[in-house]
Amino acid sequence: MAQRELSFFETVLAFFDKAAAYTSHPKGLLDQIKYCNSVYSFKFPLKNDDGTYEIIHGFRVEHSHHKQPVKGGIRYSEMVNEDEIKALAALMTYKCAIVDVPFGGAKGGVKIEPRNYTSSQLERITRRYTAELVKKNFIGPGVDVPAPDYGTSGREMAWIADTFNALNPGLIDSDACVTGKPIEQGGIRGRIEATGNGVFYGVRHVLSYAEDMKKLGLSPGLDGKRVVVQGMGNVGYHVAKFFQQAGAVIVAVAEYDGAIYNPNGIDIDELQAHRKETGSTLDFPGAKNFENGKQALEYECDILVPAALERQITAENAPRVQAKIIAEAANGPTTADGEDILLKKGVMIIPDMYLNAGGVTVSYFEWLKNLSHVRFGRMSKRFEEASNMGLLNAVEKLTGKALSQDEKTLISHGADEIDLVNSGLEETMINAYDDIHETLVSTDGLDDLRTAAFVSSINKIAVTYMQLGIFP
Ligand code: NAD
Repeated sequence: MAQRELSFFETVLAFFDKAAAYTSHPKGLLDQIKYCNSVYSFKFPLKNDDGTYEIIHGFRVEHSHHKQPVKGGIRYSEMVNEDEIKALAALMTYKCAIVDVPFGGAKGGVKIEPRNYTSSQLERITRRYTAELVKKNFIGPGVDVPAPDYGTSGREMAWIADTFNALNPGLIDSDACVTGKPIEQGGIRGRIEATGNGVFYGVRHVLSYAEDMKKLGLSPGLDGKRVVVQGMGNVGYHVAKFFQQAGAVIVAVAEYDGAIYNPNGIDIDELQAHRKETGSTLDFPGAKNFENGKQALEYECDILVPAALERQITAENAPRVQAKIIAEAANGPTTADGEDILLKKGVMIIPDMYLNAGGVTVSYFEWLKNLSHVRFGRMSKRFEEASNMGLLNAVEKLTGKALSQDEKTLISHGADEIDLVNSGLEETMINAYDDIHETLVSTDGLDDLRTAAFVSSINKIAVTYMQLGIFP
């Protein structure tokens, strides 16, 4: 009899169990880390413009309270279900630990296809969803802090912040109840592109390990690497854009309605303009259309970037995947069975819980900004510029050599918010990978990055529980 495929949450549990075997923590502690602490499933009515009612199903899952607040995005998709949100909440816990962001993991979802709703319906759904979270204390700056995910963006986050503010008058830190907000509503520069940017910093760093690249038959660096991207949403678009800027060649892009392929490369900004104009990535000049978008996962390339949804690479298609590296920008794109096949083929999988952590990292910076009520760089930028300029003037005097005004302006530049955000993100992605790599090479029997990332993450969470005195 054919074996039943594991659900998404069961897959995360299977990855966890595989890694837990490399740790020495007691079963009780491992169980405390592994399962979801609170699961909130609720329904509410939406009144349509024609007077009819529709019942909307929402979820919020808080996976681990070992650090508070808990944090995780909200997705709008027809495929949302409790198992999926539990899996995504669990991944958030491990992700935050990997990048040393001091939050527990959570996730939310609304079971709707956003394309089928008007903006005003989506606003009513989002505001009511938020009110339901408020009722049960599932949202708040020190409790649970949502963010955008699949199918949501800054627009929804602004509605959430406004609803929370209205229900909590006078709460001075209330802007920190949600991240990924537009700048004008307390957001932070660099958050929109943060996940894609983090994937870029992460992959660039992984590719700088020359020995590891040699084993894959690749040269270090992104320059000239042939890349396939699945999903041209927020994450996929920014990954493709940053990869292209670093010299990679985007040979194929897959969307829900099909894929396009051009061995000479697809210009990502031109593709984005084409999509805006025609409503689709298909029929892009110079590229060939493929009706079955999923087949793009099997195209010949160096790096495959799944950036759409979970469970895309399975035991069914993994044997045909030709990429040497899978850079998991989406959450959960590879099933446990699919991963076994890929690892046997020698494919390197850079796991989601590390690689797409740029979003939560910059969300953490936004939360800090909201709590401190001041833009990063506001108090230091001019001071830095003045002292750098003073230093340059002194050097000119001492050496007798003069720099041009443009050179002086460039060198003396004080850090803006975006400079600090990107610098903090780059630092985070580099340190986290070095940590995972160190766990990989220093643990007997370990030979894949996902298990190494889980081991590192479990150990960090276990230490927190021990420090709390819950487990001796
Ligand atoms: P998004 O809604 O902005 O984009 C998703 C894109 O995937 C859309 O363009 C959609 O049309 C496309 N798509 C849908 N079904 C597809 C299919 N079958 N084949 C190819 N493309 C398909 O969502 P996003 O925010 O970019 O999120 C994408 C993934 O990244 C999700 O797994 C999400 O959980 C993960 N992620 C997002 C963030 C973030 O900050 N937004 C952070 C971490 C992880």
